[in-house]
Amino acid sequence: VADVAGVTKAAVWRGPGQLVVQDWPLPELHDDEVLVRVSCCGVCGSDLHIVDGGVPEFVPPRVLGHEVLGVIEAIGRAITGFAPGDEVSWEPSLPCRACFYCHEGEDGLCEQRVPILGGFAKRTVVPQRALYHVPPGLPDRAGVLAEPLSCALYAHDRGRLKVGDQVAVIGAGTIGLLLVMLARRSGASLVVVSDPNPRKRELALQVGADVAVDPGTEPAVERIRRLCGGRGAEVAFEAVGTAATCLDTLAAVRSGGTAVLVGISPPAATAPVPLFDVLRRDLTIEAVWLRRFTFQRAVALLPQLPVDRLLSHSVSLARIAEGFDLLRSGKAVKVVVEP
Ligand SMILES: [Zn+2]
Ligand SMILES: [Zn+2]
Repeated sequence: VADVAGVTKAAVWRGPGQLVVQDWPLPELHDDEVLVRVSCCGVCGSDLHIVDGGVPEFVPPRVLGHEVLGVIEAIGRAITGFAPGDEVSWEPSLPCRACFYCHEGEDGLCEQRVPILGGFAKRTVVPQRALYHVPPGLPDRAGVLAEPLSCALYAHDRGRLKVGDQVAVIGAGTIGLLLVMLARRSGASLVVVSDPNPRKRELALQVGADVAVDPGTEPAVERIRRLCGGRGAEVAFEAVGTAATCLDTLAAVRSGGTAVLVGISPPAATAPVPLFDVLRRDLTIEAVWLRRFTFQRAVALLPQLPVDRLLSHSVSLARIAEGFDLLRSGKAVKVVVEP
């Protein structure tokens, strides 16, 4: 395998706001690893935070990109079940399997997760332990949604929806829209979405929402409550990550209901929670971080959800900075980078 130990073109994060497309060394292929040619890689909201320098555990220089779809080019000697030509995606980090949380089966909380990024490049090396086959016959590029779907699935699980529940989703970005699809599939009797962006509201209706509320023209919480029998939703998901939308989500839930907080708030954000109201109405608040063993199900579900509707923009690796700007501007839902 001549080109295994070599270089690849990659968008290297070199410091706050700096993405430079350049040659990047490819490590030697170990026995339990595969070499993947990247087909495309989604840009995630978390990538914006990292590139801005807002996530302390990430230090430049480094190649980011964790929503990846690729094709195996070469395999290490110990690889079984995967072969060159296979289309794959992978978990962006692996638990250590040795810490307190891993032993408790709470791998999402592992303190020594090993990141496996590298999607913003032409080629990258991935351990077999992180790999999943992408089902055949998916729409072009739809496999990049495996990773965000694994996160949405975990949030969905934490909401413990029952068939017939009325569900609210605050925020119609990628995760919010995936939650809409999952709520629909789980038998929700009503799915209400709130988002100020008309394009995202339209998309929400296309992928399964019954009503899309514009919080810019009407109080979203009042509308949601009115639509849900005057009481509020059984389950409401917050998929934005601001204090105001977190408070809205609590207020949009009926007494005895569940608010699931998924959106990533800035580290210093705080919110004045109406404690007596939360207590008096017996609310359950689920705060969700990453995923726990949901990648397998996400991959299996991909062909059954209209995930390709979320793929709004595509840029080449050389123009990756434009892709980041598109996502930042709110014009895009899912931007993919195609090396
Ligand atoms: Zn992501
Ligand atoms: Zn661990």
